[in-house]
Amino acid sequence: MPIQIPADLTIVTLRDSGRELPQRFTEAYARTLLQRASELLQARADIAFRAGTCERVVEEMPAGTRSDVVDDAGYHFLSAAHRAGSGVRVLLVDRVSRPELGGESVAQTRVCLVPYGADVGSTSRFLAHEFGHLLGLDHADAARREGPGQERQAAAWMRNLMNSGALHPDAELTPDQVRQARSSDLARRFGGP
Ligand SMILES: [Zn+2]
Repeated sequence: MPIQIPADLTIVTLRDSGRELPQRFTEAYARTLLQRASELLQARADIAFRAGTCERVVEEMPAGTRSDVVDDAGYHFLSAAHRAGSGVRVLLVDRVSRPELGGESVAQTRVCLVPYGADVGSTSRFLAHEFGHLLGLDHADAARREGPGQERQAAAWMRNLMNSGALHPDAELTPDQVRQARSSDLARRFGGP
């Protein structure tokens, strides 16, 4: 049996000056992404993310944050307003101010953020990468240095699910990463070793 972690989905539509902004996520698409991300992590680490609740909310961003997209301050506001239950929470928003908000800092809140992407493959890999952070994994290339002799290492990073850049279609996890994820605080809540 895989470690099974419940994942609640919250589709957040922004409201600006009394007007709701576009939101392309549907509940069906959100559930599809979760299923695909879960399949990916189950195949590599025997950790599954099971669909919990799915809700839609409308939020007006507070002063000091951008009101038209979710920026870093907006992510902190949303993750405080929509806390994780027993497992994790995925906030699905239409647009963000930069590609990866929260990133390596999300393991404490157990809340991650996914901007809309029309491609199921790349968007579900992005979600699986965010789940990797929730499982305590840092970027594989965090120790990247400039200079010669790193070509082979760089090629391995580019195929890794925790690469900081674009994610390879066959994105993999190393045995060390699998061990680390399965013994993370989050995995241990749900029966990890
Ligand atoms: Zn990341």
